[in-house]
Amino acid sequence: MVSSYTQLLERRYKNKLDSDANEFIGYAVDGAKRMQTQINDLLAYSRVTTQGNLFEGTNCSDIFEAAVSNLAAGIEESGAMVTRDLLPTLPADPSQLVSVFQNLIGNGIKYHGDQPPRIHVSAVESGNEWLFSFKDNGIGIESEFAERIFVIFQRLHSQTKYGGTGIGLAICKKVVERHGGRIWVESEPQKGSTFYLTLPMRNQQEKDHPVPGYHENQTN
Ligand code: ADP
Repeated sequence: MVSSYTQLLERRYKNKLDSDANEFIGYAVDGAKRMQTQINDLLAYSRVTTQGNLFEGTNCSDIFEAAVSNLAAGIEESGAMVTRDLLPTLPADPSQLVSVFQNLIGNGIKYHGDQPPRIHVSAVESGNEWLFSFKDNGIGIESEFAERIFVIFQRLHSQTKYGGTGIGLAICKKVVERHGGRIWVESEPQKGSTFYLTLPMRNQQEKDHPVPGYHENQTN
């Protein structure tokens, strides 16, 4: 309601009042749009645990392609090069994994430095887990903030420099932890960042959260 009516005010009365009024209506419209985005992101955050799907055999190369296709406009606009190695198939909630890939690749594009963004995704075996890396050539992160950025609403930049709600990485952490994995970043300012995450090769869901009607052989 707030968003629609401020936009209606803008459409009907922009340039019919004085320039202060135009400016104030502009702020109200922007604020309402931001509030809407923030509510949607918060809902997505809360739904990670309340509305997750069962894990199924998930080809991470397909997940990568889906994320890249959702980001097509931003990739085109920024001239980003987004590449991957062959990625494994593992038990996961596919739509949640797309949101993790999309957030990490999207951040690699958004927080780019002077060069066009380059993001490379790879995965190696590490014990009974897969270790994924998302490497970018962007602005990097001071080591003192490396943990804080995964906390909801924590951002390192003003809204005018880089827009955002500060919820994306908190969603990634919650999804990865729901899958029995961990997520962290290694970075140096101006030298790019590599986000790492682990995902178990075998299904965790059945052990930790028994689901009626679910069988291990459905996933592997
Ligand atoms: P948002 O992008 O909406 O602010 P995120 O939770 O995705 O929220 O990220 C939190 C903060 O972490 C960002 O505001 C930014 O300061 C920092 N950040 C995330 N990804 C990167 C990256 N690839 N390079 C540099 N900084 C990053």
